[in-house]
Amino acid sequence: MNRRNRSLFFALGFLVLGTHLLSIGAGPLMWTLLALQLLVYPQLVYWRAARSADPLRAELNNLLIDGVLLGAWMAAWGFPLWISFMLFVGVCLNVIIFMGMPGLWKGMAALAGGMAAVALLQDVSFRPQTELATSLLCIVLLTAYLLFFANDAYRRGVSLHSSRRQLGEQLAEITKLQALLQEQAQRDPLTGLHNRRFLDEALERELAACAGAGRPLALVLIDIDRFKQVNDTYGHPAGDEMIRQLAELLRSRVRETGVIACRYGGEEFLLMLPGVTVAEAATLAEELRATFESLRVVADGRTMRTTLSIGVSGFPEHEPRAHLLVLKADRALYAAKLRGRNRVVLSTEPLPEGRALPEAAS
Ligand code: GH3
Ligand code: MG
Ligand code: MG
Repeated sequence: MNRRNRSLFFALGFLVLGTHLLSIGAGPLMWTLLALQLLVYPQLVYWRAARSADPLRAELNNLLIDGVLLGAWMAAWGFPLWISFMLFVGVCLNVIIFMGMPGLWKGMAALAGGMAAVALLQDVSFRPQTELATSLLCIVLLTAYLLFFANDAYRRGVSLHSSRRQLGEQLAEITKLQALLQEQAQRDPLTGLHNRRFLDEALERELAACAGAGRPLALVLIDIDRFKQVNDTYGHPAGDEMIRQLAELLRSRVRETGVIACRYGGEEFLLMLPGVTVAEAATLAEELRATFESLRVVADGRTMRTTLSIGVSGFPEHEPRAHLLVLKADRALYAAKLRGRNRVVLSTEPLPEGRALPEAAS
């Protein structure tokens, strides 16, 4: 970008400063040096920066080299007022734009360095006058340069604004996707119900809340009876369909807020019912059992049916600790299986004669 700007304004500068060379009757050496400085030098410094390992750093140095060379011209001509003013403002604007105010001091030091170098080589006399045409052209070129800078700053502002907007949009999209991913990580893909991980966390939270508020909380653990047989007889996709239909039944029955229906394992489901007593949960469980018993699941044109075994446990009756409350429901479910399946068993109900509960998993 700077190559284009430097080449353009240095070339225009050559036209303006050329009028000054004409007025002071400059010889071929000065013409050649000025042409090299304003027409060839921009290409050289671009070439140097482009080849550098750190082009931005090299270009910042180029701005200071500009300062040294233009300072030298000012001194060589005896500081003609309008020319010096134009060159000084041009150098200062450039260094401030790219380096901020600290750049200004570096830019001024570069100008002074150029002037000092000339002063060492020749006498510097003060000749501030320029021809009217040169003065006018300096004013026009400086004005053009300032307008160019203002427009450039405007375009940078617009592009920054649009980048910010795009970033904001992308951030919103990422946040949405994150929320979606989080939600998906808490769901079972087959049924869309919450998964066990989610329930385990929610149960701890809800139990603490219910304990604090003096409210009950019931768990209903549901297992499809002889599901392996369903798979073996009708195929795995048919088994999936049965799982989906049971999930649908659970969803349709438990719409109250705070209730969580989750797929706890393969063909096991758990309902968490805050504010519901064991007795109320047992009634709901019995309804679910009866409804599922009469349900005919159709898959691939074939009709399947089976039953549910359900274990119910509740806080505060059975257990205040989340994992043990689940274990109690599991034991009740096991008891339901032992008693012949297709039934609801409450955690406190005794086991059939002579049967022991399985060891609690830790
Ligand atoms: P019980 O009455 O004692 O519960 O017997 P069961 O056959 O239901 O229980 P078992 O644990 O022997 O078998 C459960 C079966 O559930 C075995 C497994 O292949 C099947 N299963 C688990 N997850 C899925 C699933 O996502 N889709 C299908 N179709 N089957 C599944
Ligand atoms: Mg099971
Ligand atoms: Mg089963």
